[in-house]
Order: sequence, then structure tokens, then C-alpha cells
Amino acid sequence: MGERVAVIGAGVIGLSVALELAERGGREIAVLHDQDPLESTSAVAGAVWFPYAAERSAVVDAMLGSTLERCTGIAAEHLEAGIDLRTGVIVERSPQPDRSWTALVRATEVDAAELPATLRGTGATGMRTTVPLATMSLYLPWLRRRCEALGVRFERRAVDDVDALAGDFDAAIVAAGARGGTLLGDDASVVPIRGQVVRVEDPGVTEFIVDDENPAGLAYVLPRRDCLVLGGTHEPGATSLEPDPAIEAGILERCAALVPAVAGQRILSRAVGLRPGRERLRVEEVAGRALRVVAAYGHGGSGMTLSWGTAERVAALLAEQ
Ligand SMILES: Cc1cc2nc3c(=O)[nH]c(=O)nc-3n(C[C@H](O)[C@H](O)[C@H](O)COP(=O)(O)OP(=O)(O)OC[C@H]3O[C@@H](n4cnc5c(N)ncnc54)[C@H](O)[C@@H]3O)c2cc1C
Repeated sequence: MGERVAVIGAGVIGLSVALELAERGGREIAVLHDQDPLESTSAVAGAVWFPYAAERSAVVDAMLGSTLERCTGIAAEHLEAGIDLRTGVIVERSPQPDRSWTALVRATEVDAAELPATLRGTGATGMRTTVPLATMSLYLPWLRRRCEALGVRFERRAVDDVDALAGDFDAAIVAAGARGGTLLGDDASVVPIRGQVVRVEDPGVTEFIVDDENPAGLAYVLPRRDCLVLGGTHEPGATSLEPDPAIEAGILERCAALVPAVAGQRILSRAVGLRPGRERLRVEEVAGRALRVVAAYGHGGSGMTLSWGTAERVAALLAEQ
């Protein structure tokens, strides 16, 4: 019998970790989760590959790079997974925009005339790039199916004591998103960052646009296979999961200012998620527990963007004796 591993969490991090470990073989893996993948914060995500509201460092940038590579490969090989390479514009409003991400993916500065009309003459610039964008309603179930095909067991249950898993498991991976710190009990530094989106019918928009320095609030238009995701908000410490109609009106207004075609489109659904905000990403072995424990949370607004890099790091940590 191989090492018995419990992965706590079935969001994009837990699923990626479970699949990475299953693909490497030699272990019995169970995913313990109190929300199904499509109920998790990950299902609310846009979910475009782009670093946002998460740690940036050499280690994390390596994770960005490996996730980009893996998602690009999935887009090429598995149409059914729901990842597409999409072209779009990252709007820049500050005089010295952070373009460090362009070391990882090709990007070119757009001409002022290519910016939305409402931004021309405001001093805004933008970078055009092509990156993976996932339709999470397809991608998360695909990850789960891949796991199950490799023998990963899914068990819907709440875990309130990680140490109590000793005996049944040799190791536990805490991929519990915004609840990771509380579950481990040694980390009060996770701050939920509320994000609200509204999904509308796509009138034929093919390019995405992200305007995360908009002084009126975060704004993005992300074409998925099943809808256009319009966002968003960035509300540290707010925890209400109810979509707020006034906030939604602001999102619709900001997005229509970027892409006029979205105005008046039929609303398909609304969603709110709590990003696991943390100054530093926590992917490390946790000492002094009743079984081996590896923390894998704190991805902020970049869970999809860092998912495979995280999974590879967790697998490497587990392989260390
Ligand atoms: C509006 C919005 C837009 C976003 N857009 C993007 C984007 O474009 N690109 C991007 O990369 N990221 C984006 N994000 C961020 C991304 O969604 C998160 O970083 C990511 O979902 C974190 O994934 P996770 O698996 O760590 O957590 P989650 O998706 O929250 O999953 C946590 C899992 O842990 C389980 N769990 C927790 N506690 C317990 C417990 N005690 N017992 C059992 N199970 C437990 C839950 O049931 C769940 O299955 C966005 C987020 C929001 C809210």
C-alpha cells in the first residue's frame, strides 16, 4: 500500500494537487471537501491566467510560469477541459505600470486608438497578450473526472481537526482556500477578499479586457465558452456571499464603458466568492502535527494562475523524506 494522502479541498488548488499526485502514482489519495468544486470560490473565478492580488517573488513567478505552460498544454490537448487561449488587453493606469509578468508571456503595447473610447485621452495604456482562460463550469468537473479516472476518492465531509486524520492517512494537504489558516489553527493572516461577478449572454465578444486599476473599482470582461463574466470587486474583510444589486449595477456600468456591446445583455447568473488573501502564499510543510501536513493556500486573486505551480511544489515537498 502506498502513502495515504488526504487533500482537504476541492477547489482548483485541491483538484490540481490531487491530480498531480495521482499522475505521479504510488499513493492512495482521497479529496475531503465540504463544498463540491462548482460550489467553491474557484467556480466564481474569471478565470484568466494573470497575476493579481497574490504574492510576487522569484518562487511564485516560477509557479506562474509552470501554470502557464501546463494550462497551454491542456488547451492544446484537451478541448473538453474548457481552457482556451484568449487574446485581450490588460489596461494600465499608473504612470509606471508593473510589466514584470511580460517576462513570462509575450505582450505588446497597444496603440491608444485600440483602447476603449472611454479610456482614450485619460493617459491609460494597455498591453495585448494571449493567455489561458478557463470556463470553470467545464474545467473543475474535468479535473475531478481526471482524478477519479486515476483512482482518487472524493468524500464530501467537513474536516475540523487535521490531526485527527492521523491513523487513516499518512499525510494531509490543506488546500482549504480562505479557511486554510483557521483549519490549521496556526495562521491568522488569511484575509477573505470578496469578489462579485455577473454573468451575461455573450453578444459575440471574443477578446478579454482587464482594468484592475480603475479608480471606480475593478472592471473586467472575460469571454468564457458559456457566457461573458463581468466583474468585479476587491473587498478585503467583507464576507457576505449574497450578490449586492448596487454593486452589480456598478459592475455593469464599468464593463459597458470598456465594452459597449455588453450593455443590456441578458443576465444568466450572479456569484460571489471569497479570495484567500494572504501577504505570502503558503505552500510549505507544517511541522509538529500528528501526521505530515503540507499547507497549500493563500492564492488571493491568482488561484487558477498559480494552480499547477502549486501542485508541482506540493508534490516535490511530499517526495522529500
Ligand atoms: C470574483 C473572483 C474572480 C476571480 N478571478 C480569478 C482569475 O481570473 N484568475 C485566477 O487565477 N484567480 C481568480 N480568482 C481567485 C481564485 O478564485 C482563488 O484564488 C481560488 O479559487 C482559490 O482556490 P482554492 O482551491 O484555494 O480555494 P476554494 O476554491 O475556496 O476551495 C476551497 C475548498 O476547500 C474546502 N474546504 C475548506 N475548508 C474545509 C474544511 N474544514 N473541511 C472540508 N473542506 C473544506 C471547500 O469545500 C472547497 O472545496 C477570482 C476570485 C474571485 C472571487
